[in-house]
Amino acid sequence: MYFTVGPTEIFSEVKDFYLDGLENKIFSVHHRSNEFEKIHSETVANLKILLNIPKHEIFFFSSGTECMERIILNLIKKKSFHLINGYFGARFFNISLQYGNYPSADISVYGSSVFEEKIEINHDDEIICFTLNETSTGVALQINDILNIKKQFPGKIIVIDAVSAVPYYEIPFDYVDCAFFSVQKGFGMPPGLGVLIVNDKCMKKAKSVANKKGQRNSAFNFNTYSLNYNRNQTSYTPNIPAICVLGKVCELMLKKGLDKIRNETEEKYALLDNFISGSNIFSHFVKRPEDRSKTTIAVNTKFASSEVVKKLYNSGFVVSSGYGEYKDSQIRIGNFPVHKISDFKNLIDALSKI
Ligand SMILES: *Cc1c(COP(=O)(O)O)cnc(C)c1O
Repeated sequence: MYFTVGPTEIFSEVKDFYLDGLENKIFSVHHRSNEFEKIHSETVANLKILLNIPKHEIFFFSSGTECMERIILNLIKKKSFHLINGYFGARFFNISLQYGNYPSADISVYGSSVFEEKIEINHDDEIICFTLNETSTGVALQINDILNIKKQFPGKIIVIDAVSAVPYYEIPFDYVDCAFFSVQKGFGMPPGLGVLIVNDKCMKKAKSVANKKGQRNSAFNFNTYSLNYNRNQTSYTPNIPAICVLGKVCELMLKKGLDKIRNETEEKYALLDNFISGSNIFSHFVKRPEDRSKTTIAVNTKFASSEVVKKLYNSGFVVSSGYGEYKDSQIRIGNFPVHKISDFKNLIDALSKI
């Protein structure tokens, strides 16, 4: 069983969802057909209920990284600001840089959510980017800290990288202009779909950016996307199977209930946390308990983590190694809705045998 931080284990029901789509030839429909419009509208409706999204528009892309790039291309003329607390936050910053913009950043010590100085956001920074759950370091930000920054800079567009955070972490969309995620982490699906959520403030900004750059009608421009979105279509032939299956996975989670999913996430986390606290081989990488992610847990290992990964693999469990410079000293464990409490007990049992 995959306890990786993404891609991870896939909901067993997903197999039937894909089979159903193949058997009923749903995946052969054209993206401008009525059949597709129905799939699109159902998935959008389910997502809006599940994640409590008020009026935002939802655009489908290929991955979380593509969402970052689309945001940089559509929402800024020159300047983005990034709160970086790990490698994914740094990737977002670098994409802005690579496109010839002038990004600036405040960087925390990796493994902590405490940013070093008073956050100095410039008057001409156009968007402020946060990584709600930094998968690389196992640090989750407090949503209230994000909202406090929003209060100080009400004119800026707030962007949240919510990959690996949703659906456990709730995003208060009344205060968040833009958020994105990909499905292979918290949604128990195969990779290949990025979901970008934008409000009218973003759409207004995208228009002015596009006008300046003369890109108003390009396929990947948010304006073109919005026109299509409002017809329950997309600008190009998207990953129709994944869009269809995502709608059904949302339904699955709605049936179970998000409260129950959240309670179970906390229960599984507590089991693991309890085990780590009593172990002399494993310890938390993230020092402050309040910074520790409930969905992606970074664990220091006393000996080479590749040994731990191998031993677990031989017992039937796949976990992630550490990210970047922590590759050999950590394992990372995914705690997503797809993982049951009994699965976690089995994993902890295997860890305790090490
Ligand atoms: C995985 C991940 C990404 C990148 O998403 P892809 O779908 O792999 O491109 C971005 N941010 C965070 C926090 C992630 O965990």
